[in-house]
Amino acid sequence: MNTKTGARTISTKGRSFRPVEGIFRGTPFYWVGNGFHVSNYFPSGNAFEERMSPFYLLDYHAPKAYEPTDDLRRGVGAHPHRGMETVSIAYEGAIAHHDSRDNAGIIRAGDVQWMTAGSGLLHREYHEASFAKAGGMMHMLQIWVNLPRKDKMAAPRYQDIPKEKIANVELSGGGGTVRVISGAYRAAKGPADTFSPVTLLDVRLNPHGRAPLALAEDHNSALLVTGGQVRVNGGELAQAGDFVLFSNFQGEDIEIEATLGPASAVVLSGKPLNEPIFGYGPFLMNTKEEIVDAYEDFRSGKFGRLAD
Ligand code: MN
Repeated sequence: MNTKTGARTISTKGRSFRPVEGIFRGTPFYWVGNGFHVSNYFPSGNAFEERMSPFYLLDYHAPKAYEPTDDLRRGVGAHPHRGMETVSIAYEGAIAHHDSRDNAGIIRAGDVQWMTAGSGLLHREYHEASFAKAGGMMHMLQIWVNLPRKDKMAAPRYQDIPKEKIANVELSGGGGTVRVISGAYRAAKGPADTFSPVTLLDVRLNPHGRAPLALAEDHNSALLVTGGQVRVNGGELAQAGDFVLFSNFQGEDIEIEATLGPASAVVLSGKPLNEPIFGYGPFLMNTKEEIVDAYEDFRSGKFGRLAD
């Protein structure tokens, strides 16, 4: 565990907040393919694959500058997935995506792509061509959302969610905005359709802006600071790259405040699946036998075809 702090209950100004269970860092940064320089928070970083169910994986690509290149395959070539969804959020830069179902799209700053692998597909993820040629900052993250057993073999689905489709809730006092990707924030609902209850919020705070959040106490809930510094529940400070995990069954209310210039965070909250997990490589199933089946189906071409 990459723990920074232990659990503590915080109450300020007579208000009771959902306690912080811990603040964690991810693994040292490493390359996924040759185009994504990420830190993993789970499962490798902190073994949270059950603690954060239905979320199974969080890879964070912190802001990093890329030199211009003529290499249009900077990233990850064709590879399979089954039994889960990949959610990619771009803050800076641009990623081109293709899959074996002929879905293709470009994820640019502010956009989200929610891909359901379901029964299986192949996809590739590269820096978008004009971005690769020009070079520039890349800042993005990818989350894997596990599928309930009954939906693991659902037909693959592709939700391209450009920033224009994402609900923007203005915080009081010009504090910033909450972008609702899935689930709800106040009256606003996110555009992403999910198989189990999943709330995904992109919070952007102006200096001293505050975002009050209410996350169901039986939903596993955490946030990753993606920029600046926030004070959590009027108490501890969390910096860019800190993953703040909240205790369950101890209330719903959370507040983050930007204490040093602007700040941003992605909020993850979801109802645990409470099913056995068997993950191996790019497949996420309930049993070892199902993983063996996935490899057989992949080798026999049932995931379709896709060139690198
Ligand atoms: Mn992938």
